[in-house]
Amino acid sequence: MTKDKRAASQDKTHKAALASQALLSQEQVDWLFQQLAAWLPADDDNRARLVPQVKTDADLFRSLVGCLLSAQSKDENTAKAKAALMALADTPAGILALTNEQIVAAIKPAGLYNVKARNLRKLCEHLTASNDPIPRDRKGLMGLPGIGRKCADIVLRFALGESVIAVDTHVHRVCNRLGLARGKTEAETAACLEPRVPEWARHHGHMRLLEFGKQVCQARKPNCAQCQLAEICAYGTLARPDHP
Ligand code: SF4
Repeated sequence: MTKDKRAASQDKTHKAALASQALLSQEQVDWLFQQLAAWLPADDDNRARLVPQVKTDADLFRSLVGCLLSAQSKDENTAKAKAALMALADTPAGILALTNEQIVAAIKPAGLYNVKARNLRKLCEHLTASNDPIPRDRKGLMGLPGIGRKCADIVLRFALGESVIAVDTHVHRVCNRLGLARGKTEAETAACLEPRVPEWARHHGHMRLLEFGKQVCQARKPNCAQCQLAEICAYGTLARPDHP
């Protein structure tokens, strides 16, 4: 068995074992966020500090489009696709006036372009048919075609500046490994996580968990030996070479 295959098989075994483990206590959750805050202070992290505030519905629409295009796409590819589309049209009516071929060609860098083009059209049709302003709360955002919990929470956090922890693939993985929250899907993890995060930790919580997932608790190679959260981590305990 290759190294990668062995790591993937161990990861699967550990994940199955985690399902029956207790979640972290509230005291441990508080300690965990204090550790992350010390590791990634808000002042040193521009992305956590500089929150773009949406002022108009036009800004909010552009954020929704970016989020819709971001599914299973790297940030740089999403940015390319969004810029190409916005160069053609940046309003719901303008996008509806484009041909499907134009939309697909523009958003191709973000992948899944046929599905995304369809969802984009549905979103634009919904917004042009309604005279209401674009909703600015989770429930309203999730009522829009193509917008799920992750997208709604990303818009709430980064476009509207709310203290919400959006759960993407990195946050989902880190939460489940640590026992911070449990869920089979990102939406389940988000629902479990929200009431467990202390108020003070919410504003920068997404960026801290995200960066921690990218830099330390990586999908294929979690750096458990150097991890500052190892002492409370269920996955880290299972992964220790001396664990029975
Ligand atoms: S101990 Fe390992 S699995 Fe747990 S949070 Fe740290 S890097 Fe991730």
